Amino acid sequence: MEIYLYNTLTHEKEKFKPINPNEVKMYSCGPTVYSYAHIGNMRAYIFADTLKRMLEYNGLKVNHVMNITDVGHLTSDADTGEDKMEKAARSEGRDPYEIAAYYTKYFMDDIKSLNIEMPTTITKATDNITQMEEMVKEIVDNGYGYETSKGIYFDITKLEKYPVLSNNKLSGQEAGARIEVDPEKRNPADFALWIKAPKEHLMKWESPWGLSYPGWHIECSAMSKRFLGENFDIHTGGVDHIPVHHTNEIAQSESLTGKQFSQIWLHNNHIKVDGRKMSKSLGNIITLEDIISRGFSPMAFKLAILSKHYQTEGNFTWEILEAAQARLNHWRDYAVLRHQTHDTLEDDDDKDEQDDSVSLLAGRQALVEKLNDDLDTPGALALIDEVFSKLDHTPLDKIHRQSLVQFIDEIDEILGLDLAESTPDITDDLKRLIIQRRQARAEKNWEESDRIRDELLQAGVAVRDTPSGSIWTWK
Ligand code: AMP
Ligand code: ZN
Repeated sequence: MEIYLYNTLTHEKEKFKPINPNEVKMYSCGPTVYSYAHIGNMRAYIFADTLKRMLEYNGLKVNHVMNITDVGHLTSDADTGEDKMEKAARSEGRDPYEIAAYYTKYFMDDIKSLNIEMPTTITKATDNITQMEEMVKEIVDNGYGYETSKGIYFDITKLEKYPVLSNNKLSGQEAGARIEVDPEKRNPADFALWIKAPKEHLMKWESPWGLSYPGWHIECSAMSKRFLGENFDIHTGGVDHIPVHHTNEIAQSESLTGKQFSQIWLHNNHIKVDGRKMSKSLGNIITLEDIISRGFSPMAFKLAILSKHYQTEGNFTWEILEAAQARLNHWRDYAVLRHQTHDTLEDDDDKDEQDDSVSLLAGRQALVEKLNDDLDTPGALALIDEVFSKLDHTPLDKIHRQSLVQFIDEIDEILGLDLAESTPDITDDLKRLIIQRRQARAEKNWEESDRIRDELLQAGVAVRDTPSGSIWTWK
């Protein structure tokens, strides 16, 4: 099946063809662990994971590398300001390594809660200092880097083309009105590869340029090279990385190799909260923990994210999350039907695969087609709604159990929504109660049937009486 992806580099949806057949090398910019990750950050990782799952579903092996930035990310992308890690360490009165370990653990927990698959490799910037230093040395030796009193800078005029990602427009680092230009830099848009550490800076390493630390951009160039090689297939990150971070990664890496760094660049758009950018100063940062503590399922949040195409700006409201939770609950009600078809049914194999069965079968193919089209998750979710809604009009004994099971498995495999796991079968005791209730109803013993209904409710199981029999759902 063909896969199409929108490449920020070419501004086109392109047919995807990995460099090595059947294997995809993919790099995702990971979190800067100076604070709790917010739900906007989580969108970036849900996006990368869904992309990876889709590629795997198509039979490709994905070698996915993600970094943890635990040094060198300054408060301004234009190489000014403080190292975010050091700033957090100071304000919390803790060691920066302790800060990094603390927030990394929270990040990993969030990823697990969202059923995001672990990348093949997760690597910390501080575990790759030697590789970064080597790369900077090489860049300097090749004449692309130069030293100032503050650090080592990349001379952008040495490249034939800079920047290549953002429509050839310089931004951020340019001699803008707000940014004071460092007189030691050869060009205003030159960026830091390596930063000389002020005395109070805690994270620093011996280097040919004295005690110093890596610039944020060299980190991703060095880590992707170490774990994926000089050129690879896909690089992901949020749209905020396009003008500076990714532009500079390309400059550094391609200055060394003369080869194209990543073939395809994919960027997820941002999430706003009530129409505003999420920021600490506005006090509107929302974390996954906030969502869970309000009683929502992390999977409902994931569904809310997937209901927008990754390139569309998202807006988070609690109402949107409520709607996503209702949609998820509704899907779970369909998922439990798979436990209830076999009692009443002739063998699956003997069943007529007309009508609804065909819809379930066709649904699987249609689902992957939607996702292969530049990860059309809103289209995929609408399709799932449509396929499931056909079951509303299907008597239990006409639902093709195997097709339903496969459809649910496919949803879980590509979207990681834990539909099957969150909808286990009920125990034999509860099943017996349902049968007893059915008998009571047949005998028109309403009192007994109501009593059993309450007993089932106590156990978290609701029963709905339909023309094709009693159907239970988890409550
Ligand atoms: P950071 O921890 O700041 O390095 O960001 C981690 C990832 O989250 C990066 O890929 C960012 O581009 C992305 N990101 C940051 N803010 C948002 C947001 N509000 N919505 C979506 N993605 C975001
Ligand atoms: Zn990066």
